[in-house]
Amino acid sequence: ADRPADLTALLRDSFARLPDAEAVIDGDRRITYATLDEAADRLAGGLAARGIVQGDRVGLLLNNRAEFVIAWVACIRLGVIAVPLNTREQKPELAYVLGNCGARAVIFEAELGARLPDPDDVVCLDLKIVVGAAGGDLPDGATGWDAVADGPALGGWAAVDEDDTAVILYTSGTTGKPKGAELSHLNIVHSCLHYVDHMQMRMDGRERSILAVPATHVTGLVAVIALMAHVGGATVMMRAFKARDFLKLAEAERMTHGVMVPAMYNLCLLQPDFASYDLSSWRIGGYGGAPMPMATIRRLAEILPGLDLVNAYGATETTSPSTVMPLGEGAVHADTVGRPVRCAEIRIMDEAGREVAPGEAGELWIRGPMVVKGYWVRPDATLENFVSGFWRSGDIGSMDEQGYVKVFDRRKDMINRGGYKIFSAEVESELSFHPWVAESALVSRPCPVLGERTHCFVMLKDDGLNLSEDEVAAALKDFLSTRLSDYKVPDYFTFGADPLPRNANGKLMKRDLRDRALAEAGDAA
Ligand code: ATP
Repeated sequence: ADRPADLTALLRDSFARLPDAEAVIDGDRRITYATLDEAADRLAGGLAARGIVQGDRVGLLLNNRAEFVIAWVACIRLGVIAVPLNTREQKPELAYVLGNCGARAVIFEAELGARLPDPDDVVCLDLKIVVGAAGGDLPDGATGWDAVADGPALGGWAAVDEDDTAVILYTSGTTGKPKGAELSHLNIVHSCLHYVDHMQMRMDGRERSILAVPATHVTGLVAVIALMAHVGGATVMMRAFKARDFLKLAEAERMTHGVMVPAMYNLCLLQPDFASYDLSSWRIGGYGGAPMPMATIRRLAEILPGLDLVNAYGATETTSPSTVMPLGEGAVHADTVGRPVRCAEIRIMDEAGREVAPGEAGELWIRGPMVVKGYWVRPDATLENFVSGFWRSGDIGSMDEQGYVKVFDRRKDMINRGGYKIFSAEVESELSFHPWVAESALVSRPCPVLGERTHCFVMLKDDGLNLSEDEVAAALKDFLSTRLSDYKVPDYFTFGADPLPRNANGKLMKRDLRDRALAEAGDAA
């Protein structure tokens, strides 16, 4: 059969094949492909009637809910560039992003309305559509979703080119203002096609995935929403991840496929009744965004033997995956992120931009049909981060002769302790085997003698909380010294009962932890 080359083809195929299959499940609402098709068509008609045309940018400031998918499909119908916005961002951050992409419209959640910039700050923004506001309760200058989405349908689909930008996703990177990665139709279609083949997904409406990561992040948008829309499966909305709710939903909806960050798997394992849920339908356990501690991998394999754990490594700039674990190899190659996706080329480079020998560490450079063309109106940042079609990831890793890739750390997170390089993931992974440790994060702390020392933040399980901090620190150091070289054993510890700080995408906020380590160093002096 013909394979779609742009998102209009991808969606039209599912709409035509499976009109009665469930596309989106959001609480009590169960939306079929036929209903999604119609709702998106009407919204597209409403946007067009208000002057939005192909190529315009439309911001989506929405939590995980059905309207996100409807709005996204409406954008594709119109050939409009969707700009999903991080729902945790505050007014100045949103003003920057909306201004940078020149958004003409924004579709937003009523409760997030106060964060929208003032009209004078972003002059291009002349249409605000609010979702979820009660009848006469519309915020200033906003139009209700129903008023826009209840009009006559658009009726057709824009003619797009596969290289046209479909979505702009802002990524904060290390420093400076967020940059808008331009995901083309082909970028997203390639990722979907690759996933389907790689994970042997069924195209008949049986696949079901819970959206536990934000819809506005590349993983949620591509590896869940777009992928489910392509296979004709259902996206089950979860507004905020809670382990117990997730497990109940996974059982009730017979989830087949999940793509989550490792911390979510960890939180599931911390549920005392984890093993009592019937998760037999759950076939693919995708994860990425951060390394999964080895103990988590082992325990999941024990409790859910039918689950294929599929590590995927990627970033916003690679439209989700750039490497993925071959099916069935999740346990054997647990220390790797699998192999490059089809048509991807990965090179490991030294500081001078020369390729290193197999197995040696260097920066991962990535090229292929899933790599974005650059950043929206930021030729400077594009030039800095892309070289001959390769995206320079800023991650340190290696690749062996068979093409298995390891990711050690962000270049900026790597710790240099008196000349010895320490990768936080290795230490965190070893600590995960200790029975008192729920999760841990290793960061650097300045040291006048060694340059940097290591500080480890640990969330303890109940057992560990009954002992003194010194006793726990001594026990953990003993434990690690039998498993790691002495310089990798953390110099300092901070213990707590609370989960470690993470951003909306489930990433550890190492910058915050470094600040805390610095403050504690100051207190100790
Ligand atoms: P921001 O969150 O600031 O927008 P980010 O770089 O965290 O920026 P993402 O594109 O979400 O944005 O994250 C990509 C990064 O996540 C990669 O560069 C890598 O450091 C890390 N990462 C992704 N997948 C994996 C994985 N499977 N194993 C280890 N690390 C991973």
